[in-house]
Amino acid sequence: MFGIETLTEQNRPKSETIEAEIRIGSRSIHFSAQITHQPVQPYEMLSLFQNITDKVIEIGIDEVVAKGKQISCRSGCGACCSQLVPVSRAEAFALIGLVDAMPSTKQAEVRARFSQSMERLHDVGLLDELDRAIIDGDKDKLRAVGLAYFNLNLPCPFLENQSCSIHPDRPLSCREFLVVSDPAFCAKPDPETVESVVLPKHVSAVLYAMCDPKNHTGKGFLPLIQILTNATSLQNDQSPPEPAIDLLNRFLKKLAG
Ligand code: SF4
Repeated sequence: MFGIETLTEQNRPKSETIEAEIRIGSRSIHFSAQITHQPVQPYEMLSLFQNITDKVIEIGIDEVVAKGKQISCRSGCGACCSQLVPVSRAEAFALIGLVDAMPSTKQAEVRARFSQSMERLHDVGLLDELDRAIIDGDKDKLRAVGLAYFNLNLPCPFLENQSCSIHPDRPLSCREFLVVSDPAFCAKPDPETVESVVLPKHVSAVLYAMCDPKNHTGKGFLPLIQILTNATSLQNDQSPPEPAIDLLNRFLKKLAG
């Protein structure tokens, strides 16, 4: 159960430091952040959302460790990085900017990996199914498409030498996926063998809901593999910016809901 215990705000200067505490069961998360009152888009507050996600994950980890289990995920294990990764529209924006800012050789390599995977998805006819499953919000269809995607063995374009090349900026859904089972089982995602860490809250889902464009052209999230091909529509479908403090309050209310 979440509850916002404190959230201070002072007469709306250009920016201010806010302090907040979010209660999760018997635990609480405290954070402070410098917040501007200039209108912003959610992607401009991503580092704060990532920070809160990491703190929620720590609670989940503490709970499995208290039961005598250990996290099996290690640097250099990219076994789960061929999954269909959902990213919020805010994260998609930030990741597109990250790719744009890469040195030209590296950027060309990453873009080529995105293109190759998209071509493969197109060739096997999975793109239409994927779009339909997302628009319908059909979880069973999404699960089936996710499994078909995994079986194509398309490593994430950001995976290099079995490690995440954008680790500090990786999506919330990547942060939230941790297992306590043998990593060898991750080569075939099966709930019978793969035991993932149950988190008290998925901050990723909160961000998807916040990023929902409400114009029926899409959802608040999209598959990571489609971010570059959707760059223009993401730009066109942006909601008007709003004061950061209002965005944060909206985020905290959804997190508490
Ligand atoms: S973004 Fe990083 S952690 Fe996520 S799937 Fe890609 S390589 Fe793996």
